[in-house]
Amino acid sequence: MQQTKIVLPDRDIPKKWYNIMADMPNKPKPPLHPGTKQPAGPDDLTPIFPMDLILQEVSTDRWIDIPEEVLDIYTLWRPAPLFRAHRLEAALKTPAKIYYKYEGVSPAGSHKPNTSIPQAYYNKKSGIKRIATETGAGQWGSAIALAGKLFGLEVTVYMVKISFSQKPYRRVMMETWGATVHASPSNVTNSGRKFLEQDPDSPGSLGIAISEAVEDAATHDDTNYALGSVLNHVCLHQTVIGLEAKQQLELVGDYPDIVIGCCGGGSNFAGISFPFIHDKINGRQLRAIAVEPSSCPTLTKGEFRYDYGDSAGLTPLMSMYTLGHDFIPSGIHAGGLRYHGDSALVSQLYHDKLIEARAYTQTPVFEAALLFSGTEGIIPAPESSHAIRAAIDEALLCKEEGKQKTILFNLSGHGYLDLQAYADYKEGKLIDHEHPEEEIRKALEKLPVI
Ligand SMILES: *Cc1c(COP(=O)(O)O)cnc(C)c1O
Repeated sequence: MQQTKIVLPDRDIPKKWYNIMADMPNKPKPPLHPGTKQPAGPDDLTPIFPMDLILQEVSTDRWIDIPEEVLDIYTLWRPAPLFRAHRLEAALKTPAKIYYKYEGVSPAGSHKPNTSIPQAYYNKKSGIKRIATETGAGQWGSAIALAGKLFGLEVTVYMVKISFSQKPYRRVMMETWGATVHASPSNVTNSGRKFLEQDPDSPGSLGIAISEAVEDAATHDDTNYALGSVLNHVCLHQTVIGLEAKQQLELVGDYPDIVIGCCGGGSNFAGISFPFIHDKINGRQLRAIAVEPSSCPTLTKGEFRYDYGDSAGLTPLMSMYTLGHDFIPSGIHAGGLRYHGDSALVSQLYHDKLIEARAYTQTPVFEAALLFSGTEGIIPAPESSHAIRAAIDEALLCKEEGKQKTILFNLSGHGYLDLQAYADYKEGKLIDHEHPEEEIRKALEKLPVI
């Protein structure tokens, strides 16, 4: 019988996260204070983050212990299974071996609880009572709502307005786990009111919702902010994905030639790839590919420079690939991939050519999603389907070239709360949008000059 699932026992959950800062040939430039534009120190971050997370944000230790309390909750779904995609390979008639790590087995249905759980834990430990955060499509909001519930923290979520109306079930999910959800821009914060004045019909954006959540956290002593992607500590927490995948591939005597992840802010791509990029930095042959939507082409068309993390310019400036912080993306269905910037770590690695990036429009992505669900069964999240598209294209290239490469991709989540996207695809309603170069140039002209 062929082996399809490669599973690890609970005791093999990684006990440490891997911190790529220890090994990068060039570390990212430091974040800058939004007012003074001088390097932001830990003290600048204490109004919105607990010290444990601030220390992880700047740490250069290679390994960081995962607390017992976090490991206990990780066992609810970790170790996540690794699948060999035999049926997809057969349908493609490719000599390539395709593996996927499935993060949709978490209670929230994506990789995001890998970081929401430790973030809630460290906030609880530091005496915080409430978390304010933003969410785009609702995956991060549901992950932090779950974590808040498990650790006894209140959670307030500013949800990008277009998703609030397009994805009512995510809101119900967050509320079921006890969170309060506002459509953003909202009337609850000064920045929200300002954006509403400018445009009462604003569909919202992640950048706007972040401004609201950061303001909420900064103006309440018992409240901190939490971010579901982009930051170093988020990428750190996600490395459990790649660390497990490495152990699982070892069990079947394999190692990837190509590692693929979709890229919104970069955290699931970081999670699957960083433990392998560690090997690449140490001389191993390997390609890592970050995949983004053509309508939000941060790595492939953005510029590498300092920009704010939010639209109002309240967050520190980060050194990253960006489309400009007031970028408002078109309403594509992969809501989780619509952020204007990218993780400083992922950006630096891309700048240093240790990783590759590519972008796809919606139609080829959904074609890949349908082929995947029709062979492997799982209906993938539209975000994850970007990684599937790239894996399929690499496997088809192997067929053309007659090469048997090993391809590993991260299936960052399932698509069972994204079925409207599948309905729209079936009805031919998806639009293939490329973000115009002219708009990118205009948005970048407005960036602060450092
Ligand atoms: C949020 C999300 C993403 C994008 O976020 P990253 O930080 O880039 O990983 C991708 N896939 C799913 C399923 C998500 O929920």
